[in-house]
Amino acid sequence: MTEVVVVGGGLAGLVAARTLSDRGADVTLFERRETVGGRVRSRQVEGFTLDRGFQVLFTAYPAVRRELDLDALDLRTFPPGATLCRPGERSTLSDPLRDPAAVTATLFNHEVTLRDKLRVLALRRDLARKSPDVILSGGDTNIEAYLRGRGFSRQFVENFAAPFYGGITLDRSLSTSQAVFEYTFKMLAAGETAVPARGMGAIPAQLGTQARAVGVEVVTDRPVEAVEPEGADGTDAGVVVETPGETVAADAAVVATDPPTARALTGVDTIPTDARSCVTQHLAVPATQELQSGARILLNAADDRPNQVAPVSAAAPEYAPDGRQLLSATFLGQQDADDDALAAEVREALASWFPENQFAGLELLATDRVEFAQFDQPPGFRDRLPAVDAPDGPVYLAGDYTQWSSIQGAMASGRHAALTVDGSDGR
Ligand SMILES: Cc1cc2nc3c(=O)[nH]c(=O)nc-3n(C[C@H](O)[C@H](O)[C@H](O)COP(=O)(O)OP(=O)(O)OC[C@H]3O[C@@H](n4cnc5c(N)ncnc54)[C@H](O)[C@@H]3O)c2cc1C
Repeated sequence: MTEVVVVGGGLAGLVAARTLSDRGADVTLFERRETVGGRVRSRQVEGFTLDRGFQVLFTAYPAVRRELDLDALDLRTFPPGATLCRPGERSTLSDPLRDPAAVTATLFNHEVTLRDKLRVLALRRDLARKSPDVILSGGDTNIEAYLRGRGFSRQFVENFAAPFYGGITLDRSLSTSQAVFEYTFKMLAAGETAVPARGMGAIPAQLGTQARAVGVEVVTDRPVEAVEPEGADGTDAGVVVETPGETVAADAAVVATDPPTARALTGVDTIPTDARSCVTQHLAVPATQELQSGARILLNAADDRPNQVAPVSAAAPEYAPDGRQLLSATFLGQQDADDDALAAEVREALASWFPENQFAGLELLATDRVEFAQFDQPPGFRDRLPAVDAPDGPVYLAGDYTQWSSIQGAMASGRHAALTVDGSDGR
């Protein structure tokens, strides 16, 4: 039986391990933390479920549909669209095809022009016809140039696209690749935006359970220190994986760590390591605090402090204990200000968006400073990504950084790596 070591138990590593084991390999997965999940994790604080940063699952992602049992995740959904906020003003912008109740509000929204609304419908139609693979391999510019090229107004770009796609790409300047915009726009239109009732951590927990069920040995609290191909002459002689206290020999290894660690372990210098960062604060308010957004995400149309506030427990009541609700506020990039100063800014922004309400009861539960949330994805980034078999010897790469930075990219990469090790066509 082929013995394979998978290094890293994020979504990519878990999918790779489960797929390899399914195909008959003897698989050991080493994860350096005490739980699997990597960048997708949840924890409990004072009866609240806190995800690491603000993350959502797009149910239309093809890899999500293939790899996950969505029913078992007991998903809670956010309504389509968003509430655009500025001092003293809030307005709804939604998808008229999926949110009939918001058609009038959307039609009369003056943050974007009527032409913009018609262009959104045309974009939706065009992208519905374009396959995900074509989107990822297509010509490329940045999101701002793409939208302006399609005739969207500056108002649309600044008031809606900047905070909305700024939140998705962690880059409000919209310098990210058009491919990321097109892919996510297509998915937003085709499916739900959701979180599992038990938190985003339920996603890797499900993959971990499935991996163990098909025979994967999942070893947590075990950092891998080195991955060395045995054949110095480049032949596929096997691989030696070093961990504290144990050296393991295997036929192949899949390195599925975060990009900087993958680069350090394999020496493949095309692994991207420029990071997009964010700071997310988890805040509690009394359940009686009325946000009147119908659980829509609150986008800051005026400035980026914070970029957005998500009424998480309005969409997923299980995230908050009785009598309280959970908000998550995200600042883009790394922040010098301390936690309390950031929370004061969130309170000020909310109070300006909801002047009828001063948010005196807003309580800071926790702050996540996520240094490496996504790798930077400028136009053309896909042409520079490493191949799955870029390392020397029988060492393979899995991770969002071989596809694009998302749950979809991570899961698709895990499968691709497993099928490449297995000798099948890895796509
Ligand atoms: C704040 C935030 C918001 C996001 N929002 C979204 C979103 O809404 N939608 C979306 O689709 N994507 C989102 N993403 C991106 C998505 O979460 C990632 O692209 C994806 O989870 C990456 O998975 P991965 O398995 O490739 O890597 P990782 O999750 O980084 O997993 C790597 C694993 O390797 C382990 N590891 C590292 N070094 C070692 C070692 N030496 N030995 C053993 N194990 C090691 C790590 O502990 C980790 O478990 C977001 C990410 C963040 C952080």
